[in-house]
Amino acid sequence: MNEKVLAKECDRILETKKFRDYPGAKNGLQVSHGRTVKKVGWAVDADLESIRKAGKEKVDLLIVHHGLFWGSSALDRKIRAKRIRLAKRLGVAIYSSHLPLDAHPELGNSIGLLRALGLGKSKCKPFGVAMGRAIGWKVEGGRWKRRDLVKRLALLRCEPRPSRGSSFAGLASSFERLLNQVKVVAAGPVICRRIGIVTGGFGDLDQVVRAGLDTLITGEADYPTEVKAKELGINLILGGHRETEVFGVRELARHLRTL
Ligand SMILES: [Zn+2]
Repeated sequence: MNEKVLAKECDRILETKKFRDYPGAKNGLQVSHGRTVKKVGWAVDADLESIRKAGKEKVDLLIVHHGLFWGSSALDRKIRAKRIRLAKRLGVAIYSSHLPLDAHPELGNSIGLLRALGLGKSKCKPFGVAMGRAIGWKVEGGRWKRRDLVKRLALLRCEPRPSRGSSFAGLASSFERLLNQVKVVAAGPVICRRIGIVTGGFGDLDQVVRAGLDTLITGEADYPTEVKAKELGINLILGGHRETEVFGVRELARHLRTL
């Protein structure tokens, strides 16, 4: 199938036109080559490493979440030009989707994270407005141990590797290391009852307080937000910007492969 046809399918399924996004997002096909797409790949960022890897693996269409057009300084433009040159040289078309991919109720990042946290069967409602639309979810009506949620987030950092030869003690210590990479401001209850889930970088505590949440799970937040969460008695669980945003691109690529 042609890259433009596939991009159109992405826009249709994600309802791209209905979203307002940040100026740098530029949702849609960002690099094109006009050839038939035989292999679809995904990456969170359209950085040099991902483009290089896509070229090496003969990917014709790379689906990304953070595209090429963020930032407009001279340095940003220089980095961008290098990435576009490499993508063109390697024959990698790039389709990017930002907020539509966070928000999608089936393929999206936030619903993907919610499921990965083991909350997939819980009652959830839209939460976390960015540019006028909810891109995350709030989960209520259950009791979840904060410790278990942190463990699940740590597991997202686990790259499957052959475990032959590794001792149990070795595995335990590497899990301990992963656990330490999840940043937790444990200011709220040990048992969470009202949880907000928004992937990437989300630190709007106004929305968290207004929704009556005791816990916010996101990728990253800035330091003042961490300090405020502590004072407000809200659990802030930060799983990593990239780690919480792999779901959407992976699911969208999977969908395109079935066409
Ligand atoms: Zn992001």
